[in-house]
Amino acid sequence: MFCYQCQETAKNTGCTIKGVCGKNEEVAKLQDLLIYAVKGISEIVVKTKTDAAEINAINHEVLTSLFITITNANFDADAIEKQIVKVLGLRDQLAKDTAYNGNRDAAVFTVDSRESMLSKASQVGVLATENEDIRSLRELIIYGIKGMAAYAEHAYNIGKEEISIYSMMYEGLAATLDDSLTADDLVALTLKTGEYGVKAMALLDEANTSRYGNPEITSVNIGVRKNPAILISGHDLTDMEQLLEQTKGTGVDVYTHGEMLPAHYYPAFKKYDNFVGNYGNSWWMQVGEFESFHGPILFTTNCIVPPKTPEVAERIFTTGAAGFPGCPHIPADENGKKDFSAIIEMAKKLPSPDEIETGSIVGGFAHNQVLALADKVVDAVKSGAIKKFFVMAGCDGRMKSRDYYTEFAKQLPKDTIILTAGCAKYRYNKLELGDIGGIPRVLDAGQCNDSYSLAVIALKLKEVFGLDDVNKLPIAYNIAWYEQKAVIVLLALLSLGVKNIHLGPTLPGFLSPNVAKVLVDTFGIAGIGTVEDDIELFMNA
Ligand code: SF4
Repeated sequence: MFCYQCQETAKNTGCTIKGVCGKNEEVAKLQDLLIYAVKGISEIVVKTKTDAAEINAINHEVLTSLFITITNANFDADAIEKQIVKVLGLRDQLAKDTAYNGNRDAAVFTVDSRESMLSKASQVGVLATENEDIRSLRELIIYGIKGMAAYAEHAYNIGKEEISIYSMMYEGLAATLDDSLTADDLVALTLKTGEYGVKAMALLDEANTSRYGNPEITSVNIGVRKNPAILISGHDLTDMEQLLEQTKGTGVDVYTHGEMLPAHYYPAFKKYDNFVGNYGNSWWMQVGEFESFHGPILFTTNCIVPPKTPEVAERIFTTGAAGFPGCPHIPADENGKKDFSAIIEMAKKLPSPDEIETGSIVGGFAHNQVLALADKVVDAVKSGAIKKFFVMAGCDGRMKSRDYYTEFAKQLPKDTIILTAGCAKYRYNKLELGDIGGIPRVLDAGQCNDSYSLAVIALKLKEVFGLDDVNKLPIAYNIAWYEQKAVIVLLALLSLGVKNIHLGPTLPGFLSPNVAKVLVDTFGIAGIGTVEDDIELFMNA
């Protein structure tokens, strides 16, 4: 196996024996083959000039397939094999329907057993591209598209689609098979991927806010009650909605974990009196936190750490693109409806959660809420009460070096505000950082996709201050990344013209030295240094 798609990749060069995430060789190879099959579909779509609007079923399976391969989403070899078979069936039908007469391997290869899949996968993985710069750019595009697919799938679950996003995915994935493309062609395509990342995040924002209302300032309880309870993790708000509807009046409470915390900010979910609060911290802290929760856990997306004990494994359920061997997977029917009764029944028989924290945290500062406070914010900037904003969106992870972000937040001057989104916030959202004239010093917009909100806020401030360049605002970007959704957020910010983004705790292992140089020279991308040096650098920029 070879995988270097996330920030925790072994030695920052690649996982080769087993993933640091827990992914084994078989799963890694099946994921590689699934991606290759999706590339085959993309090749057919592009070559035959098929209109993505005409292939709905394929579009949706492509989204799910890409999502399955995101870090920590799916560890279930059987489920991935099933998806490969499904995608190859769709690919072959598409080739027939469109009279595809090409011979690109990804579009025509066949496999008939797990063994043949694994053998094929060994020839078509990341290292099949020999030139390290081309490989780096191809993977950068693929990882961006994986992130885009995740956002598009959440939007689709709410009933919103944008055909041009599918078309771009096909174009990008097909390009990764084309040896005639130069590094410059692929750099251009990388930026185009970022542009469509903005579209996907805007689409999801519209889907979430039109269905559940605009996030509003909310104080979220981090303590517990003495009822049986279910913990819901991941990002999918339709799962959140269905779980709340089905637990209503059952005596079973619902808590969020990790990236599901921002569900509390949506008006539509406030009406459920069994929606109690957030339990614990970011995804990797589930080891320990799931033990003391006691009740069942529902994974809606990519936040799975392989459970350390059978006792925890027996309480895990997955749905959507998520999967773990031996854990029940709750499917959707043709209308997207899911039956969570097995989880609710399990919860009723288990003890209530142990209290691990008390108090509350405040969030809900997505674009609508922040723009409602725009006058106050602008006055504070004009009066000098706010000197600088720090966008510290992104992901959290296990590495000790991420303590940097806690220290950075602690040591920032008191006249600065942190704008955050994603699970990176858990590094500092429980610190007492105070407020500036009533504006909290940590403004949490929501999930990683709500980084879109931070871009909307920046563009609005640019307008209000009459600036011609978003980089002239008093905003610095110090972003933490972990998986592929952070890659699309980064590409989206680059496509909006944002420069001098600092990325940590390490630069991606999949960037070859030459590709990294292009990002440094063109966009001023940089890594992180020491907290003291970085704060000085940012404050004087
Ligand atoms: Fe390694 Fe990350 Fe790939 Fe897992 S997802 S195998 S940790 S690079």
